[in-house]
Amino acid sequence: MTIDLEIALSAELDPIIDVAAGLGLQPEDIIPYGWTKAKVPIDVLDAAAEAATDGKLILVTAMSPTPAGEGKTTTSIGLADGLNELARSKPEVGKAVLALREPSMGPVFGMKGGAAGGGYAQVVPMEDINLHFTGDFAAIAAANNLAVTMLDNHIHHGNELDVDVRRVHIRRVVDLNDRELRGVVVGLGGINGGVPREDAFDIVVASEVMAVFCLSTSLTDLKERLGRIVLAHSRSRTPITVADVGAAGAMTALLRNALAPNLVQSLEHSPAFIHGGPFANIAHGCNSLLATKAALTLGDWTVTEAGFGADLGAEKFLDIKCRAAGIWPSAVVVVATLRALKYHGGIEVKDVQTPNSHAVIDGMSNLEHHCGNLLNIYGITPVVCFNRFPTDTDEEMADAIAHLRSKGISAVESTHWADGGKGALGLAEAVVEAAGGAGNAGPAVDDGSVFVAGTASGDAQAPPPGESAAELPRAQYSYELDRPLEEKIRTIAQRIYGAADVELPTQVKRKLGQFTDEGYGDAPICIAKTQYSLSTDATLRGAPKDHIIEVKDVRLSAGAGFVVVIAGDIMTMPGLPKEPSALKIDVTEDGNITGLF
Ligand code: ADP
Ligand code: MG
Repeated sequence: MTIDLEIALSAELDPIIDVAAGLGLQPEDIIPYGWTKAKVPIDVLDAAAEAATDGKLILVTAMSPTPAGEGKTTTSIGLADGLNELARSKPEVGKAVLALREPSMGPVFGMKGGAAGGGYAQVVPMEDINLHFTGDFAAIAAANNLAVTMLDNHIHHGNELDVDVRRVHIRRVVDLNDRELRGVVVGLGGINGGVPREDAFDIVVASEVMAVFCLSTSLTDLKERLGRIVLAHSRSRTPITVADVGAAGAMTALLRNALAPNLVQSLEHSPAFIHGGPFANIAHGCNSLLATKAALTLGDWTVTEAGFGADLGAEKFLDIKCRAAGIWPSAVVVVATLRALKYHGGIEVKDVQTPNSHAVIDGMSNLEHHCGNLLNIYGITPVVCFNRFPTDTDEEMADAIAHLRSKGISAVESTHWADGGKGALGLAEAVVEAAGGAGNAGPAVDDGSVFVAGTASGDAQAPPPGESAAELPRAQYSYELDRPLEEKIRTIAQRIYGAADVELPTQVKRKLGQFTDEGYGDAPICIAKTQYSLSTDATLRGAPKDHIIEVKDVRLSAGAGFVVVIAGDIMTMPGLPKEPSALKIDVTEDGNITGLF
């Protein structure tokens, strides 16, 4: 049995009713899914929100990772446990609640494994969370596939909307890595088998329905957003939406129960909302807005994670999600590892476990670039968390921390993976300090500052040194929504990635013009590029300068409300490796799962 699963299965879980009670919820407030999972209905959360002020929001992001992942989920869980551990000796710290993404089964059966943390920083029951959980992804798949079915049915029955079968954008989805479905022909089987067309499948987490699900604030908002999803274009190039084929109501019915956030706990009984999980490339890569709001309402601290490195994850979290939700973090944790620093310092992946203090310092350019963005562009104090791996040495760790502190960046080592919340006490203290102190001060976004963010010319308005932005979180975005789409793309490339410029083919410019004409000029931008480099070239490590961002394509996600900018090869249906993790997963006679990690 793998160590993560062993630890998870030997944990004693609190009944979910007790976890809910710790958040002030009555037994009748929740919908239990067995003894250790529950959904919290949206009306219960709305009522609680009216009676309470929001807690403080902490975002966990990372430096540009190595392919192995640097431990954002694990660190998020460790931090929440660390804050709750700190509160045992200092009750004024208050209660920490997690808001995380639901794992997709693609990676569970593929290469990466589950996404419920690791070691002594996990959310449980991890075997359920990683496999189906409360069925949300099945509901999202069904809703998505209903829309496609209704579109194809419309074409079959006369095609009154004049759908151009060569311009169908929506795809059917499954929650598995199934490369056979990257390209298919549907509608074979003669006159009663529909109208043949070339098609493709995506994995569920890549669907726009998933992105919509995660940005919706209510059932009504969900229905309206679903209705706006553009399914196809007609032969005269008019957009054909979900509302046009009449699917929005039935899709919302399928998603009605799923939209309520799921409540579980960490190994140390920290409450955790785990809900929704869009891709971090063609979508914004964070858990549902409702789960974040639930944690903010019911806890004093909300610890949440955004996918990929800070150039993608934090940027989209702040510029898309926080802007849509009217929320703003009080501090940001940037997860770093010695192995990722060595990788950015020029060492090959296979050698990153060998001690090498020089390479650690050489790789700092990447980490410092991300920290600089957070402070100078967004005005948020970063706290660097070194997620300690068993092969790390004390000497390298001390050098790394001393280097950052000499530059005025808060940096701590954390051993939550090995030691749970006690190992993250130092991190918790650093976060409380960066966030301007303990407790449920109930920071609201200062809306007056919404559009003071810098522009393409680079006049960011970071708070003056010494004046912590955390006292009163001020929303300060990297670009303004009312700028032209092309300018917004260039602003992100230059300010966040350090690029010299962006290159847009004529055909892409034409599409941007079309989106603007259709009324989407004010949409935020969602860039899909590699997570391994600040540039679009995965092999460029550190903090490359003067690189060019080549935009290959742009797509409108009208329901999610953003324009997706594709700058790299983006895979929306992954495949399995030669030896997939699924080979190791089994069930014992007494019903216990083995081989999951
Ligand atoms: P991310 O959220 O950044 O993708 P995860 O938290 O899911 O990363 O961690 C990736 C993998 O690394 C997981 O299998 C996790 O168990 C493992 N891991 C994370 N932190 C540590 C650590 N400190 N020591 C050993 N393994 C770790
Ligand atoms: Mg993660």
